[in-house]
Amino acid sequence: MRIIDVREIAIKLNGRIANSLVNFTKHTVSLVALISDQVSEGKPIVGFGFNSIGRFAQSGILRERMLPRLAEAAPEELLSKNGAGFEAEIIANIAMKDEKPGGHGDRSGAVAALELATWDLNAKLLDEPAYKTIRNSFGVADLADSLPVYAAGGYYYPNDSAKRLSDELLDYQGKGYNSFKIKVGGEALREDMLRIEAAVAVAGKGSRVAIDANGCFDHQKALEMAVAIDPFELRWFEEPGDPLDFDLNRDLTENYNGSIATGENLFSLMEAINLMRFGGMRIDKDVFQMDPGLCYGITEYHRILKSLEEFGHRRKQCYPHGGHLINLHIALGLGLGGCEAYPEVFQPVGGYSDQCRLEDGKIAPSDAPGFGLEQKENLYPLLCDLVN
Ligand code: MG
Repeated sequence: MRIIDVREIAIKLNGRIANSLVNFTKHTVSLVALISDQVSEGKPIVGFGFNSIGRFAQSGILRERMLPRLAEAAPEELLSKNGAGFEAEIIANIAMKDEKPGGHGDRSGAVAALELATWDLNAKLLDEPAYKTIRNSFGVADLADSLPVYAAGGYYYPNDSAKRLSDELLDYQGKGYNSFKIKVGGEALREDMLRIEAAVAVAGKGSRVAIDANGCFDHQKALEMAVAIDPFELRWFEEPGDPLDFDLNRDLTENYNGSIATGENLFSLMEAINLMRFGGMRIDKDVFQMDPGLCYGITEYHRILKSLEEFGHRRKQCYPHGGHLINLHIALGLGLGGCEAYPEVFQPVGGYSDQCRLEDGKIAPSDAPGFGLEQKENLYPLLCDLVN
């Protein structure tokens, strides 16, 4: 058994939306295919992955550095010990050959796309959904078949209004979501409070609404927002300040009773450890959002989980950034607290396929082998283009 080709394309994300700092109009994602020599129903078995959402495609790093390293490796070097599939950790290690530690940046997303595609391929070789492959690989005892999900939206739009935001959340509610996340920090505090009030009115209570500042506040503004939202008892206050400003994060955890969520812009085990050492994250209260698609894939993400547990945290405190099928399978397979969904935004990779089941605020993947990306109608043609 061997991988006969590795391909990558940069795909454009749809939508003219923005958070407090970033306009996503020009964002792209690296879609990767690992084409194996194994055949099912007359077609090669292919593993697909992508480097999550919210950064950019990593075509240069993949094509100039990582894909040549994989091409140079002996085919048998990539096989898992039992020979039933490919070893994601080894593929990630080969992709990282001769790279210095630290400075994770875009590189961690490039490796992740390859590493995640390996999991998709392995699950397809076993003809099972990826969450089962992940669960079995790491010996996870949690056998849940669905997990809590919230609709992540509430971005800033051209000609935005609280009414438009309410309509958007009502639409998610109609689809079966009962909790939401909206953006803050892109307007003055007064305007943002109107948005929060509108969201809480739709959700029915503050504990069903999270807010995300995307790292835009300094110390003073973060504390002002914390004071303003305190009466709403919101679900969490996400990325109040710069993701690497652990002192700001710690300060907030000492001065705000609600939960703080952060971690989506930490890309390695060591960065996560620094958050736990210096960021004041409270056991059983604050929320970790590291995203496997941005931090070298599932192998490194699992190391992060083990470390969290050594610090006394629980994996149920983890809600990875990135509301797409890959993270749904990872969150379910590793027994995490839940996942987010992008019901309308970041297409064609955001959100879930129609075959996923959404009920009472919980989502279950379909039985499709792998991550089930082929079931996403707007993504499927791109997967076909990549392998044909
Ligand atoms: Mg966020």
